[in-house]
Amino acid sequence: MKKMIDLSKKIPVTGEFDVVIAGGGLSGMAAAYNAAKQGYSVCLLEYYAKLGGVPSSGLLGIVSGFRLDDEICVDGPFIRELVERADKYKAVVYTPAKWSFRFDCEILPLILMEMASDYGIEVRLLSPVADTVAENRRISSVIVASRRGLEAINGKLFMDDTGDGLIAVSAGADFVYGRPEDGKVQSSSLTFRIGGIDPDKIPSGMPEATQIWRSETHNVPTDHTVITYLPGSGTEAAVNMTHILNCDPLTDEGINRIRREGLNQALEIVDFFRRCLPGFANCKLIETAMQPGVRETRRITGDYTLTAEDVINGRDFADQIARGCWGIDVHMPDKVHSTSHLKYFNIPRSYGIPYRCITPEKLDNCFVIGRAISATHEAYSSTRINASCIALGEAAGTAVSQVIQSGNIHLADTDILRKKLAEQGSITDYTPVK
Ligand SMILES: Cc1cc2nc3c(=O)[nH]c(=O)nc-3n(C[C@H](O)[C@H](O)[C@H](O)COP(=O)(O)OP(=O)(O)OC[C@H]3O[C@@H](n4cnc5c(N)ncnc54)[C@H](O)[C@@H]3O)c2cc1C
Repeated sequence: MKKMIDLSKKIPVTGEFDVVIAGGGLSGMAAAYNAAKQGYSVCLLEYYAKLGGVPSSGLLGIVSGFRLDDEICVDGPFIRELVERADKYKAVVYTPAKWSFRFDCEILPLILMEMASDYGIEVRLLSPVADTVAENRRISSVIVASRRGLEAINGKLFMDDTGDGLIAVSAGADFVYGRPEDGKVQSSSLTFRIGGIDPDKIPSGMPEATQIWRSETHNVPTDHTVITYLPGSGTEAAVNMTHILNCDPLTDEGINRIRREGLNQALEIVDFFRRCLPGFANCKLIETAMQPGVRETRRITGDYTLTAEDVINGRDFADQIARGCWGIDVHMPDKVHSTSHLKYFNIPRSYGIPYRCITPEKLDNCFVIGRAISATHEAYSSTRINASCIALGEAAGTAVSQVIQSGNIHLADTDILRKKLAEQGSITDYTPVK
């Protein structure tokens, strides 16, 4: 078998934009929204036939990390408008304890499409970006494997919200993979939805589901239950309990295992629920997530790499453009998932995320936003939470005017950017609740 083939082929250019964003998760969408609101032309390319990423295609619904006890850590124009719109559809529930939101996974992509349309964002669904055309630290085009074949889309500024850092890496950015000792990444999960719960049969004095779960041994490597009731229904819930260990999600074998082992674990969990949880006797598996629940793959090397110490010590930075308040939450690559392993799951204070974490050291016109930013394995287990990913998208989108003018992400004046973020209600500095 040939080891390499040399592809020389003319590829049609099917679009020319100021900003091209790969990945229509909430971080990518937040960036697109803020860039488009400033009048820039934006193209948002999404792998699946739905916007929203893990909260929609991953069936999770839950978007956490906005608040920590006495401080608000994340706010901004995109998330505010998203929640307002979702409220009108009765498609969001607010949980005051953690200031987290639960979205209806089916309605969320609809709202995102409506927002994209209202602000003139060109969305291309079923459009995985497979490669880039790049030279001298700059990307000129992304190559999309669409239903029509290969297409090129040109841009001035690019953003990588693929979660895997695929765009940045294909253009020459460095990256780090997994934990330092053996390169293993956090375990992956396949989230699933169940129906047929009878809320009237759940006794008010019922012990925690976790307590009941711990009364038996399981093949599912987690020591607790995570059952999230979906908005507008007491009868359906999303379950985030499966864990696929020693799994590399960038291999075909890894992705196949997430589906196969994830489904087997889901069936075992549903069987347990039916036998042991009052009110769940007739529950059934409705669907598993289309998007595998991958927690970690590549982390792009940026101008600064956020560390566990930064997270634990609530460090502030002169160029911070977003905040995080989730603790260190590593789902062990090779062990039963348990929060009791987590020494720094609760942190006393939020921390700043520097602009330099979204600027790949080796590229001049590509931000990395969302999951794959520059952070160590441990720090990343905190920054990957949705609220921080959204805040980074809001900040990158807001930075577009400066970056398009200068042509170089490394030349942005972060004082000006921070001022602009503050004016629009985004949070960059410690903000106690009034
Ligand atoms: C199982 C699990 C449970 C979690 N639980 C929580 C929780 O309770 N609360 C919380 O706040 N966070 C949670 N998280 C974390 C959080 O959901 C993610 O880290 C977050 O969604 C990252 O946002 P994102 O926009 O960067 O990526 P994603 O949401 O993954 O979105 C990335 C998008 O890019 C698309 N894409 C990928 N590759 C390409 C490509 N080549 N071309 C075009 N598009 C591409 C994907 O289809 C996807 O739509 C969880 C994550 C997992 C996996």
